[in-house]
Amino acid sequence: MKAVVYQGPYDLSVSDVDDPRLEQPTDVIVRITTTAICGSDLHMYEGRTDAEAGTVFGHENMGVVEEVGDGVTSVRRGQRVVLPFNVACGFCTNCRAGKSAFCLTVNPPGAGGAYGYVGMGPYRGGQAEYLRVPFADFNCVPLPEGSEHEDDFALLADIFPTGYHATELAGVRPGDTVAVYGAGPVGLMAAYSALLKGASRVFTVDKVADRLQLAERIGAEPIDFTRGDPAEQISDAVRADGVDRGIDAVGYQATAPEGEEQPAFVLNQLVDTVRPTGSLGVVGLYLPSDPGAPDDNAAQGILLFQVGKFFEKGLRMGTGQADAKAYAHELRDLIVAGRAEPSFVVSKQLPLAEAPDAYARFDKREEGYSKVLLQPTG
Ligand code: NAD
Ligand code: ZN
Repeated sequence: MKAVVYQGPYDLSVSDVDDPRLEQPTDVIVRITTTAICGSDLHMYEGRTDAEAGTVFGHENMGVVEEVGDGVTSVRRGQRVVLPFNVACGFCTNCRAGKSAFCLTVNPPGAGGAYGYVGMGPYRGGQAEYLRVPFADFNCVPLPEGSEHEDDFALLADIFPTGYHATELAGVRPGDTVAVYGAGPVGLMAAYSALLKGASRVFTVDKVADRLQLAERIGAEPIDFTRGDPAEQISDAVRADGVDRGIDAVGYQATAPEGEEQPAFVLNQLVDTVRPTGSLGVVGLYLPSDPGAPDDNAAQGILLFQVGKFFEKGLRMGTGQADAKAYAHELRDLIVAGRAEPSFVVSKQLPLAEAPDAYARFDKREEGYSKVLLQPTG
């Protein structure tokens, strides 16, 4: 079958790889109808990880079940499913607590499993025609038959639950004012989720015009950080000492503010942006410390957090990978009921063969490439 294969930094091919097969009785094989490119894939794409040549990318997958292992009880052949990006067992302590991103079975230190992701287990990615899904009873989220809402459902694999998770980590409640740093697909889903939860005002900070326009389209207020300190712009807008909740959907790859050389550290900007006793949710990725990393401080996981101000303001913070499965059923039901349409963020649907070009354009934040869906067999 064809799959998107990592060859080296900025170098992907669409090549023939072995078809996946059932390896455990609890596996299913899914024919992939839609699989998305994610900002998280760029960490590997740009060569900032240990990803090896030959890795098949793709953790945002949906499709139709093609083959079913003997031990699978609730998933049937022909069923349309979306696959939350965390590969998880469903029965360990963390999974039972809803923390499938920290599954202890698939990746024993609790770092969690994922399809097609370096350091997250041996699971092949789904930017391919077929995908093996382990612990299928747990990892398949059933969808209504047919082809309706394909784009919306595809986003249940990662960015919609991740955006929603950010609002949970931050503790967003009805009436809250919220600042979201980053208007990439994840930040836009966080802003959208905050609005779904009844936030009174949501500010979205970025500098990319078409991303800020999308934020505005869903009812968030765009803040262009090249026009001045975003914390000040937001305080001025709310006429208060900051917003109730802040979300980091950027991570260690933040770019420098206009006229400055040092990249911004979004966590510190959030400490400035959120009012005393408010709270922060962090889904933007920060790399674990790796003293051997040849790159800059951010790439080594070393950044100076203004913990004094964080303490003085009595702030709280939640972090980590999203437990996509924990929200996928409820968010699916909102889509089915017509109460959520996350596909506003989708800008392109392309055949698998165009993946290398799409990665290059998405990596440059090119206009029209905010969220790319690939359709291997769709
Ligand atoms: P993305 O790179 O498309 O979006 C990041 C956005 O941040 C860009 O639009 C960029 O212009 C903007 N930005 C850069 N510097 C900024 C600054 N100083 N202030 C405000 N905005 C700034 O990526 P994405 O797909 O939206 O993902 C965002 C982050 O979320 C990535 O780090 C990704 O790895 C992470 N992620 C985490 C999870 C999770 O489970 N926690 C899941 C998916 C993605
Ligand atoms: Zn993703």
